[in-house]
Amino acid sequence: MAKQMHDTPNLDELEKGPWPSFVTGLKRLAKENDMMVDLMGQLETSYKTKFGYWKGGTVGVVGYGGGIIPRFTELKNEKGVPLFPEAAEFHTLRIMPPAGMHYSSNLLREMCDAWLETGGSGLIAFHGQSGDIMLQGVKTENVQAAFDKFNEMGFDLGGAGPALRTSMSCVGAARCEMSCFDEARALRIVINNNIDDMHRPSLPYKFKFKFSGCPNDCVNSIQRADMAVIGTWRDNIRVNEARVQDYYKAHGMSDLVNDVISKCPTKAITLVSSDKVQASDTTSVAALGDGNSLCIDNKNCVRCMHCLNVIPGGLLPGNDKGVTILVGGKRTLKIGDLMGTVVIPFMKLESDEDFEKLNELGRTIIDFFAENALEHERTGEMIERIGLVNFLEGIGLEVDPNMINHPRTNPYVRTDGWDEEVAKWNERKQAAA
Ligand code: SF4
Repeated sequence: MAKQMHDTPNLDELEKGPWPSFVTGLKRLAKENDMMVDLMGQLETSYKTKFGYWKGGTVGVVGYGGGIIPRFTELKNEKGVPLFPEAAEFHTLRIMPPAGMHYSSNLLREMCDAWLETGGSGLIAFHGQSGDIMLQGVKTENVQAAFDKFNEMGFDLGGAGPALRTSMSCVGAARCEMSCFDEARALRIVINNNIDDMHRPSLPYKFKFKFSGCPNDCVNSIQRADMAVIGTWRDNIRVNEARVQDYYKAHGMSDLVNDVISKCPTKAITLVSSDKVQASDTTSVAALGDGNSLCIDNKNCVRCMHCLNVIPGGLLPGNDKGVTILVGGKRTLKIGDLMGTVVIPFMKLESDEDFEKLNELGRTIIDFFAENALEHERTGEMIERIGLVNFLEGIGLEVDPNMINHPRTNPYVRTDGWDEEVAKWNERKQAAA
């Protein structure tokens, strides 16, 4: 017989809006689960008093230094007895998802059963902001059994604390026509080779890799990753003329001009009378079938993805695909939010050697971060403190002017020594020509 529900007038309010409420889900679980009954009691108290009542502690599983987020209640009576005893321990297991977050429905059912069978609350978040599968709500005594069960199913704990964190890659080549590299392979190589830094936290602070197959950047790697790997291309946008014409027939000239041509941030797209099109090696052309053609000047395209997104299948990434690598993205901490800075404007990522190069670069950056960052300092803040030129020298990368758009207007980049680096880059370019 399940415990009687607490009164939850504040939580009930959250069910009244037009959208599905998490409260309804909690109530459903609470019908058969006393832990959820007491969780709702504690949550209702927080809504009344506007205070949170969870504190941390130390909970782990054998052989791992992280991956469990301990939560103990602070809501106790004067004798120290928890007011909501069934939810007095409500720990979270961070589980690494498969790359690209592909699951079969059978596996999802197995995971739900396994979580309940091992004493879990039944609450699972796919996926937390950290990218993990969050198994939320388990007592200390059941943590090891829950982990063992998921481990048997082939899952491993993710990262927590000052460690390499769980990585994310977009759904990628499996389902997306914009994908420019094998995201899942890149993720697995880099994470598997550095897994020790995930399970035994010993870095100055968290370190995240994220992998997006194209510049749409569906896993927000620019904003969130210490090292972001983003697919791109360096030749011309590919054109499927029939699909462009389908778009044109369905939407008309007004949408083509207002939604595609005028939204190009660099004015790289023009509408030209078909008999005046000047073909060149760097122009993509799609005849619209009414005497006009859509022309894209690829030298001026900044890969913003807008036109490709608006005409899906009609405009596609080029054939010469690869990745751009950025470092230092992060949310607010010591200094404000930072976007990643380009350290490798373009590299191919196809052969075993290419993937090994990526893996080595990742390891080098982690090592440099481990040795040079201050306590509780993210990579972006470390670079801000020591200067980008010093960071690049430290990880052995040659400075390349293509790393930034405007050397003299970008306040993030320290430009001391920049002129000399540009001169060196010009020499290298001439030598290679
Ligand atoms: Fe313009 Fe290139 Fe963006 Fe298309 S992807 S809108 S051509 S900048």
